[in-house]
Formats: sequence, structure tokens, C-alpha cells
Amino acid sequence: MNVNGLLDCHTHCMFSPDGNDDPVELVNKAVDLGLKALAVTDHCECNTWFEPEYYGIDSKSADEDDILMYNCKEYHNKSLEKMQELKQRHYDDGFEFIHGVELGQPLQAPEIAREITSDKSIDYIIGSLHNNSGEKDFYFLSFDRLSMNDIYSLLDDYYAQVLEMCQQAEFDILGHLTYPYRYICGKYGIQIDNSRYKDISAEIFRTLIAKGKGIEINTSSLFTHLASTMPGEELVRLYRDLGGEILSLGSDAHCAENVGQGIDIGAQLAKSCGFKYAAYFK
Ligand SMILES: [Zn+2]
Ligand SMILES: [Zn+2]
Repeated sequence: MNVNGLLDCHTHCMFSPDGNDDPVELVNKAVDLGLKALAVTDHCECNTWFEPEYYGIDSKSADEDDILMYNCKEYHNKSLEKMQELKQRHYDDGFEFIHGVELGQPLQAPEIAREITSDKSIDYIIGSLHNNSGEKDFYFLSFDRLSMNDIYSLLDDYYAQVLEMCQQAEFDILGHLTYPYRYICGKYGIQIDNSRYKDISAEIFRTLIAKGKGIEINTSSLFTHLASTMPGEELVRLYRDLGGEILSLGSDAHCAENVGQGIDIGAQLAKSCGFKYAAYFK
């Protein structure tokens, strides 16, 4: 892997409920790799911003996995001082530290999304949809127990809700479009006919382009059975063909070891689709 001079704009540290490492370790790894910039973008999941009880869920009787992501606010508040300190540090060779957040499900709790997007200390915001409204995170769904009809019905809802999010929510970059494929195809090896979602993907891209927003190439699924970025080449090319210019690259690393992973492959893909530069936000 040679990611020298490239950017990793989607990573998580110990200030995400599913991350462990100190952000300093992520920075050290990024500097060692020769990255030009690193954005730490911890989870701000709007629908799990408070403790489970706030949402009428009894944390004592709930599945431990299900409650993992709750209380994002507490993690976020703890991160703020550290993020400021890392931003103000001097780094050699023009390396830049970026304080971002991954804003999950903004339309499922708009009042919380507004609180986060109005914080001017945050450099940039990835808008993500990890669960359809009223459903669990795709991460937790047992796709092997669902019929193909049920899977396509979930995907129909996913794309419709991503489009709605792009139309109505505030963010800079749409996170990992095709996220459910990480699990449906990547974990369970189930094939999806993506041609079914070409029109709505085009609508999503046109919406983002009109608003001056961009997409990311998320490389975390490259090393799963999916063996493709999120979104994959076909959609990245469609975005470009529709006039998309703002493109970000992110490993979605949840530990220092994975910082920069697959970014070289993502950059190569971007180039082959006609992109000449990648974006980052300050
Ligand atoms: Zn995500
Ligand atoms: Zn992420």
C-alpha cells in the first residue's frame, strides 16, 4: 500500500462507541504513511444520541449489541477538547488534521442533527444512513434469514431514505452510498442486482451536485466478499458523468492500524473515472 500524499477523510477513534484507539495513534499512523490529511469523523448517530431510555428502550433487557451505539452525545462531548488540541498542533510537511463527524440518520432526529451541524468548530460532516427508519442498523440484520423480496424491500427503502436525506439534511459528503451491500454481499455473500437502483442513484447524485455537496469512496468493504468500494465503480462513474466533482476518500478505519487502508485503490478508481483531485474540508 502506498498512500503517500493522499487523504483519509473518514476514520473513527475511541470517541466512537465502536472505536478504541486514541486519536493521537491515528494521527501518528497517518503521518507515518505520508498522508497529506487525516479527518477523524466519530459517530454522531442522531437516533442514538442519548441513552436508550430516552428512546423508550430498557437498556437492562435489550441485546448488548443493540445498545452499543447509544449515548453518542457523551462520546462526542468528551472528544471536543482533544479535537481542538489536535487541530492546533503544528505538523511537519503540511500535514492537516481535520475534525469531522459522521452524522447518522439526521432525518430520524432533526433537532439533534441541527445541534451538531450548527457547531462551527467542526470542519466537516459526513451524512450517513446506517439504518432505515424504525429498523436496526444493517450491521445487525441477519440477511441469511430474509427472502430476496424482503432484502429488496429493505434496499428500496434505503435508497428512498438516502435520497430524502440528501434533499433535506445538512452535510458536506454523502457517506458510503450502498452501505447495506457491506453486509448483504460482503458478509452474507448474497448477490444484488444493482441496476434496479441506477435511476434513484442518479437522482441522489443530481441532488447532491445541485446543492454543491459530494460523495465519498469508502474503502472499508474492499477486503470483504463485496471486494468493491462503497459506492462501486459503476456509481462513481455515473456521479462523474452527471457532473459530480466533489469526491472524498475514506478508509472508515475504526482503529489506528487500518488508517489509510485501501485509499490507494480508491484513488486509482477515482482517477480511472475521470476525477483529477479529491476534496477535504477545513
Ligand atoms: Zn458509517
Ligand atoms: Zn464510519
